[in-house]
Amino acid sequence: MDTKAFKRSLQHSENYHRKGFGHQAEVTTQLQSEYQSSLIQEIRNNNYTLQRGDVTIYLAQAFGFCWGVERAVAMAYETRKHFPTERIWITNEIIHNPSVNQRMLEMEVGFIPVDGGKKDFSVVNSGDVVILPAFGASVQEMQLLNDNGCKIVDTTCPWVSKVWNTVEKHKKVDYTSIIHGKYKHEETVATSSFAGKYLIVLNMQQAEYVANYILNGGNREEFLAKFSKACSTGFDPDKDLERVGIANQTTMLKSETEEIGKLFERTMMKKYGPTELDKHFQSFNTICDATQERQDAMLELVQQKLDLMIVIGGFNSSNTTQLQQIAVERNIPSYHIDREARILSENRIEHRELNGNLKITENWLPDGEIVVGITSGASTPDIVVEDVIEKILELKATRAII
Ligand code: SF4
Repeated sequence: MDTKAFKRSLQHSENYHRKGFGHQAEVTTQLQSEYQSSLIQEIRNNNYTLQRGDVTIYLAQAFGFCWGVERAVAMAYETRKHFPTERIWITNEIIHNPSVNQRMLEMEVGFIPVDGGKKDFSVVNSGDVVILPAFGASVQEMQLLNDNGCKIVDTTCPWVSKVWNTVEKHKKVDYTSIIHGKYKHEETVATSSFAGKYLIVLNMQQAEYVANYILNGGNREEFLAKFSKACSTGFDPDKDLERVGIANQTTMLKSETEEIGKLFERTMMKKYGPTELDKHFQSFNTICDATQERQDAMLELVQQKLDLMIVIGGFNSSNTTQLQQIAVERNIPSYHIDREARILSENRIEHRELNGNLKITENWLPDGEIVVGITSGASTPDIVVEDVIEKILELKATRAII
């Protein structure tokens, strides 16, 4: 499929909407009342610090809702207002946050059901409204919805679209896109659907394996088995790694994406020589500002002497996991939770580990004076952060009385 031509024709269709519907003012007020927090505002105004009793809270200087997410949520609210009686669906969670997604259900915005790992679009009828979330949707899904005569509201973040344009550029000059991301993540699924030849590497270790294969060759079967779910159909490591371009899932750890880019640049330079580098390697900066700002703020926060860190965000939120990784690498006791209810008691907290497993940790809240670092991923509303802080303050205050 000519994905570029399809996108262009879709954008001219009267069934396709990617701007709001003129209800911004109303929706802004509603979003403020549902998701903003006066406590968080107070902490921001107080140089991102709060001191109560035994507890000092340091809040990261950039955290929570990014503009791409805010824009997507606002467009979803506007869509409901604009189409009050139509059936409305979202191809996936609007963003990776359980409370926002719960609100969508309350507004009778349905999620496309998933059956055996596959989305079941048979529930969608012609004339239904379908929202594409902030991290986008695959070109095949867009085509299917368009063919079905659905009204498409596209909230894809412009930063994500920028990556799609990058892989289109690679495709045009017959380069393989090396995508730093998670092959199962919806954003990477969407990005790879716009790419020609592609290979998805999860981390530096996988990137080094590929770079080594480029320089020294290796076991082809092993390579194909390793990347069986993370490459384009018919991918041939002996032919398709001669010209590569770098792309990324916008929420991966910035420093790692940069290192991977540099690794492939060095690799191609070594293999083909500096004068030929341009014919074998392309890189564009597609790291989203918001992700970068949150990561930089986290790096600053972990310089403080912290007794513990709480990282708040959806369990399938990639950028939240990256924030958690920063704390874990520094051996700071850090708990990734998605809502206040994960704090089961002053002695028990349920949290997600980096490997994705849920774990209950006992005795997580130290006695006496403590300094707690707090941050949240790009899809977490301030109100959720407030709930978590209030809970910690309440537990410590109760303990102090006892
Ligand atoms: S994290 Fe970045 S790419 Fe993702 S929605 Fe927010 S602004 Fe867009």
